[in-house]
Amino acid sequence: MVQTLPAAVGFLAEIHQDGGRPLEPVFASLASRATLKERTADQSLCTVLLHSGAPDGAHAHAQGRTLVLAGELYNQEELLGLLPGSTVPGSDAALVLALFDVYDVHAFRLLNGRFAALLAAPGRAVLATDHAGSLPLYASAAPGRVLAATEAKALRTAPAGRSLAGRPVRRLPGTHQVPAGTVLDVEVATGHCVTHRTWAPPQARRIMREEEAVEAVRRALADAVRVRTGRDTPLVVLSGGIDSSSVAALAARRSAAPVDTVSMGTDEADEFPQARVVARHIGSAHREITIPTAELLRRLPHTVWAAECLDPDVVEYLLPLTALYLRVGGTGRRILTGYGADIPLGGMHREDRLPALDTAVCHDMDTFDGLNEMTPVLSGVGGHWSTHPYWDRDVLDVLVSLEAGLKRRYGQDKWVLRAAMGDVLPHEVVVRPKLGVHEGSGTTSSFTRLLTDAGVPPDRVHRAKHLVVRELFDQVVVDGRHPDDVATDAVVELVAGRLASLPRPVLDERRT
Ligand code: AMP
Ligand code: MG
Repeated sequence: MVQTLPAAVGFLAEIHQDGGRPLEPVFASLASRATLKERTADQSLCTVLLHSGAPDGAHAHAQGRTLVLAGELYNQEELLGLLPGSTVPGSDAALVLALFDVYDVHAFRLLNGRFAALLAAPGRAVLATDHAGSLPLYASAAPGRVLAATEAKALRTAPAGRSLAGRPVRRLPGTHQVPAGTVLDVEVATGHCVTHRTWAPPQARRIMREEEAVEAVRRALADAVRVRTGRDTPLVVLSGGIDSSSVAALAARRSAAPVDTVSMGTDEADEFPQARVVARHIGSAHREITIPTAELLRRLPHTVWAAECLDPDVVEYLLPLTALYLRVGGTGRRILTGYGADIPLGGMHREDRLPALDTAVCHDMDTFDGLNEMTPVLSGVGGHWSTHPYWDRDVLDVLVSLEAGLKRRYGQDKWVLRAAMGDVLPHEVVVRPKLGVHEGSGTTSSFTRLLTDAGVPPDRVHRAKHLVVRELFDQVVVDGRHPDDVATDAVVELVAGRLASLPRPVLDERRT
């Protein structure tokens, strides 16, 4: 049988030198659980794996080391070439462990993937994220103990640890998020940690001829789609915009059977006609799912629960997709998206000034980390696995580093991508202007209306959204409540009441 999902989609791993009490983890990802226990002379390792039927593929053991891997690699072929011919690791976890044997922590500089990993070696815990931190990883360390988990809420009852490199998590003392493209090498006995960056967004810009740039983008994106689909029939979440249409078209080109596509809309807005044009063109088996606005808004707690994100704008992008993933049905689909193309290409930028475009690209590439926009837990709440070809390491390197004049050209945004797709998609799709998922589904406007109906003055709506998301985070992440038991309406009322009862200066001082 073709393995559709990665062996594991998440984990909690605990390394103890003093036999501490294991946590009872909560996760948003819907998956089977397997517990793995190991004892060596100086420490014990206890791992809860969230797996998709074959947990053995998610851990590997050699020379007293254990590697636990959630997610997947996309450049196995290249990586295998680095190992002696006789070594053929049977899983991504075994491959990473074999590379670690040769390169130690620098093995993680070689990987193109969507993963979070923990390696336990005598006296040592090594934690690693992929280049984009696209599978979030959280850690808590104290002398004699290192805990790591792919969801912060799994560590909510961890005893407070010492400060680690990374971003502290709100109201979870001692829990930090491991930065994107980073390896933390922790000495278990002391909790002392050495940080290695394994990836950083390119700062330089490449000058290329038009045809050369177009070809580089086409090839990188086609490869990223290929390695993400394997022999599966993928499901592409399709808006009909240039980003997701390109992914769907490239997936369809290499698939003998029709690929599946799905579009979501609400009773207030949809992009169904636009998506239909693409579905017809590529011959996909296409579905349209209409989600009533009331249901969409009820999924706010689920979105914050999955993304563990405090940014209200990001939560607005992620809400319609979360609602869609919960409605897709079936078991364990591999989902491809067009998410994230605008970040390296400056696609949200609608004016011709190139300095402003590159300023936006630099800013967005400097600030994406920790927002968890790319987290697979969003689709994980529906039992699915999502992956984003535009944030493939090679695609991202190409897109970020193109000089701004290739990104905006002839009055068009994302010119190089549009040019690359000229012969793959209908012209109307190639030139279609950007419409964000939060706009095309009416999410921003319906969330705003929910707040103004509750009495929030229009000029305080953004502040109120911030407070709603923060309150939801506290309930479903910090307090560990299930989002089915948290009502969006009640949280909105609470926030509206707080805003009404406090004078503005007090509220503004409390900005966090
Ligand atoms: P956008 O904000 O439009 O860039 O959306 C990001 C990604 O979400 C797209 O590339 C699609 O993969 C997916 N998406 C956006 N809108 C829809 C929609 N209405 N239905 C299904 N998927 C969508
Ligand atoms: Mg769109």
